[in-house]
Amino acid sequence: MKQVVLATRNAGKIAEFSRLLSEHAQDIQVLGLADFPDMPDVEESGTTLTENALLKSRAVAAFTQLPALADDSGLFVDALGGDPGVYSARWAGEHGNDRANTAKVLAQLQELAATTPDLDRSAAFRCAIALSFPAGHAQAGNDLVEMGEMPGQVIEAPRGDGGFGYDPIFIPAGLTLTSAEIDAHHKDEISHRGRAMRAIAPILVDLL
Ligand code: IMP
Repeated sequence: MKQVVLATRNAGKIAEFSRLLSEHAQDIQVLGLADFPDMPDVEESGTTLTENALLKSRAVAAFTQLPALADDSGLFVDALGGDPGVYSARWAGEHGNDRANTAKVLAQLQELAATTPDLDRSAAFRCAIALSFPAGHAQAGNDLVEMGEMPGQVIEAPRGDGGFGYDPIFIPAGLTLTSAEIDAHHKDEISHRGRAMRAIAPILVDLL
């Protein structure tokens, strides 16, 4: 059995990626950070999604001595010059406060809309997923990054209880429901993360 570590403690993400890989190969076991409790946290000090994903995938590959995948994602709002972008998780200060982060983006857009009535509310979720290999592996030093994007619009008030983060204020292009109102499988099909994961899966299978 070949092994790969996904840099997450989220069992749902591991199950989902295992299912995706099983479409390409049956002999790969996906581990998570829960399997390496001594792995120190990696500071996401990069200024791009790619930099942060690579910081994590390299650190996890070095610590676990196994091929490692790490993702970084965020919401990029055109009218805000691409903010909150790489700072999405901590936009309102405290890490992971979804409600405060969402409220801050809405307040920023409301302020702009006061002077620009036809404000362009387009935005996109983007995800970078990086793959790194440990020293001694034939692919060591050959990091790979795949990107995924889900374009759409930011609405004026939150709607829906599903998803997480900025999902309640985002309507994916071509839909009328927010990404907090569509079911999880539908979101995986169109999401930035789903697209990036599906892009890297066959490459990973070839390189392991
Ligand atoms: P990270 O990739 O786990 O660091 O997530 C970055 C942040 O981007 C999250 O905390 C969310 O605020 C936001 N984000 C990333 N992907 C999504 C998504 O699919 N829906 C809503 N928010 C997201």
